[in-house]
Amino acid sequence: MGGMSGGGGSCGCGGGAKAQAADGASGNGADAPEISDVGCHGDARDKAREMADSDALKQLMEDYPLGPHEQPQGMCPAFGSLRVGLRMRRTATVLSGSACCVYGLTFTSHFYGARRTVGYVPFNSESLVTGALYEDIKQAMHDLADPDEYDAIIMTNLCIPTASGVPLDMLPKEINGVRIVGIDVPGFGVPTHAEAKDVLSGAVLKRARLEAEAGPVARPKDLVDDRPTVSLLGELFPADPMGIGSLIDPMGLALGPVVPVREWRELYAALDSDVCAAIHPHYVRAAEQFQKAGRRVVGSGPVGVEGTVAWLKSIGDAAGVDAEKTGAAIDRARKMISGAIASAPLKGRVQVSGYEGSELLVARVLIEAGADVPYVGTALPKSKWSQTDYEWLEAQGTHVQFRASLEQDIEAFKETDPDLVIGTTPVVQEAKENGVPGLYFTNLVSARPIFGPAGAGSLAPVLHGAMKGRERLGQMKQFFEGVGTGHAVGYGWTEVPEKKLSAKERNARARGGKATTGAGKHSELAVGKDHEGAAEETKERENSASIRTRDRIRQSAAAKGSAKRAPKTESDAEEPVPATAGGAD
Ligand code: SF4
Repeated sequence: MGGMSGGGGSCGCGGGAKAQAADGASGNGADAPEISDVGCHGDARDKAREMADSDALKQLMEDYPLGPHEQPQGMCPAFGSLRVGLRMRRTATVLSGSACCVYGLTFTSHFYGARRTVGYVPFNSESLVTGALYEDIKQAMHDLADPDEYDAIIMTNLCIPTASGVPLDMLPKEINGVRIVGIDVPGFGVPTHAEAKDVLSGAVLKRARLEAEAGPVARPKDLVDDRPTVSLLGELFPADPMGIGSLIDPMGLALGPVVPVREWRELYAALDSDVCAAIHPHYVRAAEQFQKAGRRVVGSGPVGVEGTVAWLKSIGDAAGVDAEKTGAAIDRARKMISGAIASAPLKGRVQVSGYEGSELLVARVLIEAGADVPYVGTALPKSKWSQTDYEWLEAQGTHVQFRASLEQDIEAFKETDPDLVIGTTPVVQEAKENGVPGLYFTNLVSARPIFGPAGAGSLAPVLHGAMKGRERLGQMKQFFEGVGTGHAVGYGWTEVPEKKLSAKERNARARGGKATTGAGKHSELAVGKDHEGAAEETKERENSASIRTRDRIRQSAAAKGSAKRAPKTESDAEEPVPATAGGAD
């Protein structure tokens, strides 16, 4: 394992990579297809289809069905799994991929405050083709597997090593008692970073399940063993699990861990739960592990009154809770949430789009609070765990677009004319450019509770505050009209750029002069007769200004009695300034 210097890998993004999967240990065999332009750009999808002769790629195609757009439209998907791994205690994360990909991923991780080393196993054409990369990875695992430091090492194949078939499943399962977990997270097979979180979560849950099935495992910290528990699937705002816990408490249920987990032992506690609540519906591999462990999985979440009632009922059924107890919990929740909605009702048309996986749930909260939501776009695919929310939204007349592309989100914005857009950066940018308020889904909506009474009450004030900014945005739009448009748009402009005039040229043009560029100097004015007149005027003004300056100097010197030191001029010589009485001379 080494630093960036030994990389030499050429990124598929750049379109320059050509390699052949090697025979033997590091490849898929002699028939493996040639790899070219594999990455997040180019004709990656077709290549991926061609190469889907490996079980790993076939499984990716099945678990993460590709959508209408051809490439990921967000950040490199591997960032999702990297981030989840970096948040786990006593866990090392190692990447193998093109140097540029690894640079971008580590940069972003540290930008988001990872404060952990990201390991890197570089490759070049030779190590990729000969299979030496697999050996390098194996050696890196041996070098890193220190049981005093780590419970697990997450080894991630990025695009090129995945496409080359570097077989991480052949790595030792454990070295010095440290678990080695290999995952493939290529951009051409995992379309969003949200799904990459599932790739990692599914892989570690699988390992933990197999360990638990094989024999006794370490007891998880804070294990609840006096009541049935419900574990939650999906990254949630920190206050949300507490809110959900209080909703299920009257049913005699306790909250289990939230997956993705923060340490290895939590995986055992999660699998030990009686029910898994797939709050984020795209964690399909993780949900599958719960099912394999014999746990019931329930989709949707406790959002709004109707959503919460339906969810509590499903959880009660799955956990075998007495109907009376469930009914009491439902009545209590209904009262609290209706009260919260009544105290903060929402008015206005809102568009929702994002790539977090909670878009449908957020739309439900908004609709129950009184908003009109004509369109919800999510970058995630439809899954059986989002079916309930999908049906509910469609019944309200909301169009739900799974695997939504940026173009679809923008088209919807133009068609529905919302009062507010909640979306990804480019969608919000489009809205604001058109004078419509926008809120970033990730920063401003995901960073708030959305479940139970807290969710019902917390969003309305923020959204109303944003909607009030429409008039101000209209003024800004007017003020910046034409800025950053046409030839000034920057990248992507294909016409001949317009000549940019200097301030002097603009002034001259405004006065009717004709502006041209002088040779070898700053722009000068090739002026007509009118402008010659203007030039004379300027000269006169400059002369009179210097005369005024001389006068001031003279007066000042006279006042101080030092007239003799005042600068001499021609006019001075003709008309000497008399020394004042009592002067220094
Ligand atoms: S690893 Fe990420 S950045 Fe690199 S080619 Fe694949 S998708 Fe693109």
